[in-house]
Amino acid sequence: MAVCEILPVCIFFNDKMKDMPGTASFFKSKFCQGDNHKCARHMVLIACGRENVPIDLFPNQEEKANKIIEMHRQKKGK
Ligand code: SF4
Repeated sequence: MAVCEILPVCIFFNDKMKDMPGTASFFKSKFCQGDNHKCARHMVLIACGRENVPIDLFPNQEEKANKIIEMHRQKKGK
């Protein structure tokens, strides 16, 4: 899979992860340069828009992402 198209502007990596290089490289290889469609942040961004991605959402929090997406859909009446 290709490098995530969001990486250059991903707040998570360009801000939050700078103090956690070990964790960052793990997530980068697993999600950003791998299965980016399974990244919780990517999922919420695609389904709900960038403004609805919580700053503290980690890429491996798929379950939390699904809840956010579900709530967003209910709010929108979809
Ligand atoms: S895979 Fe997730 S954490 Fe990585 S750049 Fe894309 S949106 Fe950000």
